Amino acid sequence: MSKTTEILEAYRKSVMGTYSPSVVVASGKGVTVRDADGLILYDFTSGIGVQNAGYSHPKIVKAIQDQAALITHCSNLFVNEPATRLAEKLVELSGLGGKVFFCNSGAEANEGAIKLARRWGAANGGRYEIVTFRQGFHGRTLATLSATAQGWCQEGYDPLPVGFVYADYNDLESVKAAVSDKTVAIMLEAVQGEGGVTPATPEFMRGVRELCDEKNLLMICDEVQSGMGRTGKWFGWQNYDVQPDLFTLAKALGGGLPIGALVSNKRLADVFTPGSHASTFGGNPVAAAAGLATIEVIEEEGLLEKAVSRGELLREALAAEVDKYDQLLEVRGMGLMLGLVVDGDTKPIVQALQDQGLLALTAGPHVVRFLPPLVIEESDLEEAIDMISDALDCVYGSGEE
Ligand SMILES: *Cc1c(COP(=O)(O)O)cnc(C)c1O
Repeated sequence: MSKTTEILEAYRKSVMGTYSPSVVVASGKGVTVRDADGLILYDFTSGIGVQNAGYSHPKIVKAIQDQAALITHCSNLFVNEPATRLAEKLVELSGLGGKVFFCNSGAEANEGAIKLARRWGAANGGRYEIVTFRQGFHGRTLATLSATAQGWCQEGYDPLPVGFVYADYNDLESVKAAVSDKTVAIMLEAVQGEGGVTPATPEFMRGVRELCDEKNLLMICDEVQSGMGRTGKWFGWQNYDVQPDLFTLAKALGGGLPIGALVSNKRLADVFTPGSHASTFGGNPVAAAAGLATIEVIEEEGLLEKAVSRGELLREALAAEVDKYDQLLEVRGMGLMLGLVVDGDTKPIVQALQDQGLLALTAGPHVVRFLPPLVIEESDLEEAIDMISDALDCVYGSGEE
């Protein structure tokens, strides 16, 4: 029996079946992972948008080791310097002049954003409703699930928290129709990730901002997937000519360690007061040190520029495949957050990619999603592009030989 088979069997016996994995990952280096039997695979999932700086980056590994040797946790009743420095850095990169709240995950960051918006709304006209978008994704806690306007992940969890109203993405009229005198905020992703790798149009982002200004609503951007350089800017909203009031981060923020953050502008900086919100591990010193090291790596290695240039390469290669096969409809996305839209099922493609030695994701039923680490070299990307081409040939091209 292979090591993979043995561990998968043990996994299925003892771990709840919320996922259906077929690969056992033993280690990772740069843009590849090694499975339990020594097979090396390109990871174009980046651990679902987490490893933007690549696996086992020496600088991030060292920051984690050094901080772990000093202190791993001290609670938020005391201050730790790494979290303080990370907050300073995020405020600076955002240019919003506000403050940061730290937590541990994307769902928890969005939960915090929802709470902050409600607390602000309670003091500003008794408003609490938040407009969110179909095909959006905000997490799996009850409130963030309620904010996630996708039936498949809400099934079986009624009653969900109230106070969310759904609108159509990139359709300003539908947002206007969803806004009432109870509305306090509009919450959206600059690029919808899980829902299909769909970027907001510039007119839509601008329209949402203007509507927020006009009706005194908060604009909340969920940057959990599109943040930390993925789209070629620090935060996805920076690709647009707008500023949100509040945005959330997680996934890539900790360079592989769990950390989430809520970043506000100036006027929301002091909505949370002592006792009004908390998280035991939020801003954990090891995760924060990893976050600081990740930001340094992104800066020193020019990863924002790389996300753009490598993203163009991959986009062109995928577009060439779209030209080749009628079953491929479109490439969309931004930077190194790209989706290949398929007329039909995406699962055979993801499987064929894996057979070639490349891990990819889906996003909704009809999109194959590529989120390679931003550190990817051109030579690796070219090899991966050949694998993608061969995989698509296996799925669609077999009759043409
Ligand atoms: C992954 C994701 C979340 C949820 O993050 P978790 O860390 O899994 O809770 C929220 N919003 C977006 C946009 C995401 O991609």
